[in-house]
Amino acid sequence: MALLLRGMAWFGLYSFLVLLPLAFALWVDPIATPRGFWTEAATGAGFVAFTLCALEFSLVGRFRAAAEPFGIDALMLWHRWMGIAAAAFLALHAGFLAIRSGATVQWLDPFQRDVGRATGAAALWLAVAVVGNSLLRRRLRWRYETWQLLHGIGALGIVLGAAVHALAQGSYSRVPAVRFLVAGYAGLFLLLFARYRVWRPLRIWGHPWRVVENREVGDDTFLLSLEPPPGRGWHGFEPGQFAWLITGRTPFSLEQHPITIASSAEPSSDGRADFAIKNLGDWSGQVVPALRPGDPLWVDGPHGSFTLDREPGQGFVLIAGGIGISPMCSMLLTLRDREDRRPVLLFYAAADAGALVFRDELDALAAEMDLHVVYVLEQAEPGDDAESGRVTEDVLRRHLPRPYRRFQFYVCGPPSMMDAMERILPELGVPRGSIHTERFDMV
Ligand SMILES: Cc1cc2nc3c(=O)[nH]c(=O)nc-3n(C[C@H](O)[C@H](O)[C@H](O)COP(=O)(O)OP(=O)(O)OC[C@H]3O[C@@H](n4cnc5c(N)ncnc54)[C@H](O)[C@@H]3O)c2cc1C
Repeated sequence: MALLLRGMAWFGLYSFLVLLPLAFALWVDPIATPRGFWTEAATGAGFVAFTLCALEFSLVGRFRAAAEPFGIDALMLWHRWMGIAAAAFLALHAGFLAIRSGATVQWLDPFQRDVGRATGAAALWLAVAVVGNSLLRRRLRWRYETWQLLHGIGALGIVLGAAVHALAQGSYSRVPAVRFLVAGYAGLFLLLFARYRVWRPLRIWGHPWRVVENREVGDDTFLLSLEPPPGRGWHGFEPGQFAWLITGRTPFSLEQHPITIASSAEPSSDGRADFAIKNLGDWSGQVVPALRPGDPLWVDGPHGSFTLDREPGQGFVLIAGGIGISPMCSMLLTLRDREDRRPVLLFYAAADAGALVFRDELDALAAEMDLHVVYVLEQAEPGDDAESGRVTEDVLRRHLPRPYRRFQFYVCGPPSMMDAMERILPELGVPRGSIHTERFDMV
């Protein structure tokens, strides 16, 4: 309930901030003679586009308090949709103005002499480029880090361009208070950007974690054990949370990857944290396997709300596919260490028996706690002791215990599995509030 209220409060604040400059400008209303529908509509669209852009960074700037009620993946999705909405409002702004005074190609020229118009045109083109580049990122085969850099620079250009355009060109921004608001939003964006790109890295620069162990645990997956800098370990984390691992010469490096903590959340004497990392690209396939004991690396975390500590339940059903087993490991180890007696049913799906990591550890855990593991293998061999195929409604029905509707469900795996579970579980009568998901492909 508290989380729901906090979520509503954050959403209310966000909506208020999106509409504030427009509402304020209308209230002050400095324009004595009515300017006609298309001009007013263009101004309204322009204000909303600007505030949406200026607030984009607040959604992905790793603000724990704001991310907690929604989950980082939901915020990422919102960031994406608001980016598209902002670009659409920018296009409407330009379109309405063109309708009013007849479209001229010159308006779209970002190199024209008039600074107010040039910055407006530049912001519009940048918005098209940033949104297009994001929607087509996978198809264009950008390196993730290259894309992220271009995305950040483009966003900076849009907000600054739109702010200068509004200040130089806008009729409403003749009022000092409106000018102050426009400058304030641009300033807020710069402040959040600086906090993320400068302040955070500076704060952790002198305190790298160290690699204690890095070993292959099968299926192209490495288990990386990290030790915190003396006196700078975490004051705890929740099972299922993740951290950004930052490799490179400094924490300003663009190589920052979200990886789930696979170890128990119960405090240990050395404060170590384990991360299971599967080879899915250049960083996980080349940088991670090359890490050696003693190597430094920065850790930004813990983050995330995919955790079983926040939900009361009579028991748990964990559904994992591939490396989605990682958060489940942390949850299981934590429940074992806490001597939690509640029943746990784990469905663990993989291509074949060779692709299962931590099988020995899971079987050992099943002997220590009330855990039942159902392996689901696409290519099951006789003797694998596993369901054959994928996690389907049938497989779930066969194994779910009778009071499963009062259990909490956690799902983490490839997109096709996530989509299937989000459809099947409600059909099985599991309340939506009891279904928790984490998408590793959220970007
Ligand atoms: C909350 C969360 C927890 C995760 N936990 C684990 C885990 O425990 N073990 C594991 O093996 N993988 C985990 N992942 C996935 C992991 O972050 C990516 O596999 C990894 O970043 C790939 O990087 P790469 O350079 O090797 O591959 P690339 O080829 O560069 O990227 C492959 C895909 O991974 C995603 N990705 C890459 N870099 C980032 C980034 N900096 N931020 C967000 N997404 C990125 C993008 O969708 C990209 O298309 C997690 C992802 C998320 C979002």
